Amino acid sequence: MGIAIIYNKELGNSWLGTSKRLGYIRECKSPSDINIDEYILKFHTKEYFESVKKLPFFSSAYESIRCVITAADEVEGSDVVVVPTSGTGHHAERNKWGGYSLFNDLAILLERLKEKGFEKIVVLETDAHHSDTYRMCSAKFFCISGEERCKEIREMRCGVARTEDAERYVERFGRVVEIIESYNPDILVWYLGQDLHEREYSGLKLNGERFKQMIEKFMELRCKKIVLFSSGSREDVFEEILKLFGL
Ligand SMILES: [Zn+2]
Ligand SMILES: [Zn+2]
Repeated sequence: MGIAIIYNKELGNSWLGTSKRLGYIRECKSPSDINIDEYILKFHTKEYFESVKKLPFFSSAYESIRCVITAADEVEGSDVVVVPTSGTGHHAERNKWGGYSLFNDLAILLERLKEKGFEKIVVLETDAHHSDTYRMCSAKFFCISGEERCKEIREMRCGVARTEDAERYVERFGRVVEIIESYNPDILVWYLGQDLHEREYSGLKLNGERFKQMIEKFMELRCKKIVLFSSGSREDVFEEILKLFGL
């Protein structure tokens, strides 16, 4: 039991902003050597998969998916598993990449979790941006608005994150966690955007203390938990947040 982080150094790549934050990792578990192509192909088309193999950050994205798939195995023996992703993310569509995400790590993880026998799977998607992943997966999705998606989204940006102040944002987070608790899931996947942090590039105002409050609330949930750590580019922010998880 306890908390584990899955990482390998292949995630580093000079093309990716997310790689810059990965210097701070102490003890971690290596990903398994499972054949991940079949999982990528559960979500992405074969033509697409072949076409991205020549891109300069393909190998990072591929390893990021390996770490995400490993998390689904690791969580059987841990309470919480954290994966710092790089080159993958919720913006990737079946046959199209976006936002430096080649593969949709969230969608692929959900496939693996279902295969593992998890039935009531909840996704909490908090990032400065929104995606359409909820339309393509059968799990129950929540955003900070308390619903699947904010009512106001402009250019893929989360309307609530952009308009609420930090205190109200954290209050909303607490309410969403309570809704999730009442749903009694087998497992919760938190798509945690580092770009919510005030020192990142999105112009939001959540500082370390606000992250601490959200992480404490999240850790109170009794179900199994996986954290997909996404976006952001600063190592100091990454270190600050990982320490709040006790890593
Ligand atoms: Zn984002
Ligand atoms: Zn939102």
